[in-house]
Amino acid sequence: MPSAKERYPHQDLENLAEEIVYQELDRIIRTGETDFCQCDVCIQDIVALTLNRIPSLYCSSMADKLSPGPNLASKADQVRNLAQDVLPEAIEQVASAAHH
Ligand SMILES: [Zn+2]
Repeated sequence: MPSAKERYPHQDLENLAEEIVYQELDRIIRTGETDFCQCDVCIQDIVALTLNRIPSLYCSSMADKLSPGPNLASKADQVRNLAQDVLPEAIEQVASAAHH
């Protein structure tokens, strides 16, 4: 049986904070300055911990996603700054309590 979400339109619904967190995590990984496990489990643990600690930024319009107005762009900047603060803590926390 499909979930309730699957029974309603949701194709344009997206938490933009997810992409922002992945972008910032990618930046940290590329600098190579922080050494931590980057397996599928740890990466998703890090992203989940971070997303739970910052505000979500839901968008339900493809047009807004493609060309965000000043209000959405400013909120995205705030979320990016928070992600930069929280990601190192989440990396540390996952590294110290790895599930494997
Ligand atoms: Zn791992």
